[in-house]
Amino acid sequence: FRGQVTLDGPSGTGKSSVARAVALELGAAYLDTGAMYRAATVAVLDAGVDLDDAEGITRAVREAAIGIGTDAATERVTVDDVEVTDRIRGTEVTRAVSPVSAVPEVRRLLVDAQRALVADAAAVVVEGRDIGTVVLPDATLKVYLTAAPEARAERRADQLGVTDPARIAAIAADLRRRDTYDSTRADSPLRPAADAVTVDSTHWERHQTVARIVELARE
Ligand code: C5P
Repeated sequence: FRGQVTLDGPSGTGKSSVARAVALELGAAYLDTGAMYRAATVAVLDAGVDLDDAEGITRAVREAAIGIGTDAATERVTVDDVEVTDRIRGTEVTRAVSPVSAVPEVRRLLVDAQRALVADAAAVVVEGRDIGTVVLPDATLKVYLTAAPEARAERRADQLGVTDPARIAAIAADLRRRDTYDSTRADSPLRPAADAVTVDSTHWERHQTVARIVELARE
């Protein structure tokens, strides 16, 4: 396979692990743009900027050196040379990432960085919300990955090793909150590209979803 695969969709569809597995199978590079918005959020939190202060947020993100690998086999994310790979998955960052990613100038900065990161890749899988619509509108294959909300909450819980029903309910509530926030803004990044193939993974095991996308890429 040569070209660009975009994988967009809401949180908790198993998108990241699917995207990584697709990239490995295609021998492609991989870029997790959600990890970039999360790293930007680390920079904002560490700068002590108020989440209502769009200018302060923009400044903090512009001044931060966000490092992200594009090797599908390893995940390494840094902010100003400090590794934040685990921290970006924590609740502090997860709670703050939506308001940070809603700042238009932050999106411009990160979209430019994303395009530069994949410009030289012969084959790449890029995962996010607006990859097929904004970042790489000329991609070879665009996939929009969906799943029923209940299935998504269970998968996120599994991924975090959570079994306590109260905590699973809290995860479901957080997913719904982020979905609403991400999809009701006027400039919402979350919508399928007109030429995207929608893949609904509600009743599929991960390997079936991966196989379907690899098949689409090779068509
Ligand atoms: O995919 P992940 O859950 O890591 O994304 C974290 C957050 O980053 C999302 O909830 C969304 O607010 C934001 N995001 C975005 N555009 C992208 C990727 C992520 O706005 N391309």
